[in-house]
Amino acid sequence: MNVYPLPAADLKGEGMTSQRARDRLVASLKEGGIRDPRVIEVIRNVPRHHFIDQALHSRAYENTALPIGHGQTISQPWVVARMTEALIEFGIPQKVLEIGTGSGYQASVLAALVPQVFTVERIEELLRQARRRFRQLGLTNLRTRHDDGKLGWPDEAPFDGIILTAAGDTIPTRILDQLSPTGVLVAPVGSPSQQMLIRMRGDGHGDFIQEELGAVSFVPLLGGIG
Ligand code: SAH
Repeated sequence: MNVYPLPAADLKGEGMTSQRARDRLVASLKEGGIRDPRVIEVIRNVPRHHFIDQALHSRAYENTALPIGHGQTISQPWVVARMTEALIEFGIPQKVLEIGTGSGYQASVLAALVPQVFTVERIEELLRQARRRFRQLGLTNLRTRHDDGKLGWPDEAPFDGIILTAAGDTIPTRILDQLSPTGVLVAPVGSPSQQMLIRMRGDGHGDFIQEELGAVSFVPLLGGIG
């Protein structure tokens, strides 16, 4: 598992206060029903402030989504925890595809738990920043791609885990086609005002078991690249 050593500068002042803030965040995740100790530990360790603008650092460990520019948001920690928990519940996937890199936070959480993460983002500037953050954290099991994530990452398919962090009306077929026969996909689906977190599990025979995991609120899954 990645341990996320913090740069020395982060350990002064802010880093220390954020330890208490992280403990509070973890407590609120547990209150919100997050149970998987592996996920809780990773959320405690991944420096969320590293993924947002300095002006928002004091809010990094609040259980809320925050703006990251270009009209996008870093997801709420509870949602990141819930989606991660749902993805790994039946076993740790070996190869995970994330659609919607955004800040890179969810991808970094995944990179601490699974051997290989592939993440796709349509807005080049966001991806550039996320790549820099991954480098600074020394993450080596993560690959990025600037593309329309609705196309998935065909050259690397199949994936035994797929996570979408932006909501479409449906799950694009091309993405579903890249899920291995027994893979797990977690995604928000619906309109901007009404979205449901869905989990689909391949039954090994070409069919999927679909579950609804609760109401969520994500930015829309858009087409093309920005
Ligand atoms: N996982 C991110 C959440 C970012 S918000 C995080 O932890 O910060 C969702 C992201 O999905 C945005 O950055 C948005 O640009 C991206 N997105 C939306 N539609 C997309 C598409 N078709 N392909 C790739 N990325 C997409």
